[in-house]
Amino acid sequence: MISFKDLPLPSNVLDNLTSLGYKNPTPIQEEAIPAILKGNDVIAKAKTGSGKTLAFSLPLVLKLDEAEHFPQALIIAPTRELCEQISGEIQKLARYKSDVKVITLYGGTSLTKQVDSLEKGADILVGTPGRLLDHFSRETIHLGQIKTLILDEADRMLDMGFADDILKIVSNLPKQRQSLLFSATYPENIDKLTKVILKNPVEIKVESKEKAVAIEEHVYKVTDKDKALLATLQHYQPSLALVFCNTKVKTTEVSEMLHEKGFDVATLNGDLEQYERQEMLLQFANGSLPVLVATDLAARGLDIEAIDIVINYDTPMKTEDYTHRIGRTGRADKSGLAVSLCDEYGLSKLFEIKPNLESKNIDRLKPNKNFYMQGSVATLCIDGGKKKKVRAGDILGTLCKDIGIENKHIGKINIYATHSYVAIDKSVIKKAFNGLKNGKIKGKKLRVWWL
Ligand code: ADP
Ligand code: MG
Repeated sequence: MISFKDLPLPSNVLDNLTSLGYKNPTPIQEEAIPAILKGNDVIAKAKTGSGKTLAFSLPLVLKLDEAEHFPQALIIAPTRELCEQISGEIQKLARYKSDVKVITLYGGTSLTKQVDSLEKGADILVGTPGRLLDHFSRETIHLGQIKTLILDEADRMLDMGFADDILKIVSNLPKQRQSLLFSATYPENIDKLTKVILKNPVEIKVESKEKAVAIEEHVYKVTDKDKALLATLQHYQPSLALVFCNTKVKTTEVSEMLHEKGFDVATLNGDLEQYERQEMLLQFANGSLPVLVATDLAARGLDIEAIDIVINYDTPMKTEDYTHRIGRTGRADKSGLAVSLCDEYGLSKLFEIKPNLESKNIDRLKPNKNFYMQGSVATLCIDGGKKKKVRAGDILGTLCKDIGIENKHIGKINIYATHSYVAIDKSVIKKAFNGLKNGKIKGKKLRVWWL
């Protein structure tokens, strides 16, 4: 392992890193910092949590020219939370310099206040595409002196439909500049940004070393599976749970059982139309329906990071199915939990496909009978998507500015070709629903459903 001392960094920077508790660079930092300091354009891919913020912020702070009066760096990021996080990190890293001013620019807060602070001068601007464009068209930001452009979470910005906004902003930056793009994944359409924005970029990829993610596996021999399923959920009290059954009929039965007990449940099986499947998965992923009861259809390709527990209500038929099922938990280096509930036949089947498991007595669980899983949010479906050029920012705008819903009550927004979905806190869902029904998005009246 190398230390920050092995990187070309001056001693005051090293001292500050030590005082912040940073000892060794992460792999992405180790590779990106020297490349950025050399002046290259860089495209860097590394998974979430790998320390990308410091990888671009440290060289940026180091290169800042304290004599310059206009903003020298522009950082574009997808959300207000991320803008705040980046700005906070930069301020910490810049402690050793006398006077580095960072301004965050995102929607949902007063434009005039932002204009006031812009007028007082700033070195670094950190903003979301929509709000930056607002300021640009009002001529309230000065981009003529920008030497460094950074796109953070580029994949997420593409997902949110920000590509055109970003390109518009970038086309107004000085051509002589350094551009850096950071992303957790490289979606196919990322070319749209990289080709136009970066010049001969150095590509840095830090593949996540296949650290075997820890999945705890438990097997219980049970007689009453419904009771055992409830006990499992009420003992572990997960936020998101995925339950596998072997047949479509069983998924429906188990869903109904859980629903009667007060759980908000999604069901996924091959009887559903494609759009219904999509809506079920979406409501599971955004937390509206925190339990998903599914056939093996959901065992592959489902990338929802926060599934706390996978429960085999029925024993899978093949080793491969078992592996795919339990692989839905413990994603992105989080540990996971898999519980198999087996009757006598199921148990012998499971030991055939997974010989090294051991069964335990279910009585060791201590269920809290008052626990049930209900979504704190519900989902609204809007009859317009990419084809009607609806973007996340448009929906946010209508909800916040026109209807008066607070940003913190708005959850995930998903935009598809013909429809969009937005998760809203249940405490304000009626207001949001009525507001959207009677209001306009992008000047258009769109139909709205409450799923
Ligand atoms: P990413 O943007 O890649 O998802 P972040 O930049 O948000 O990751 O960093 C994740 C966490 O790791 C943060 O809490 C950050 O303070 C911490 N971190 C970053 N670099 C280091 C380092 N070199 N040593 C220790 N912790 C670090
Ligand atoms: Mg990040």
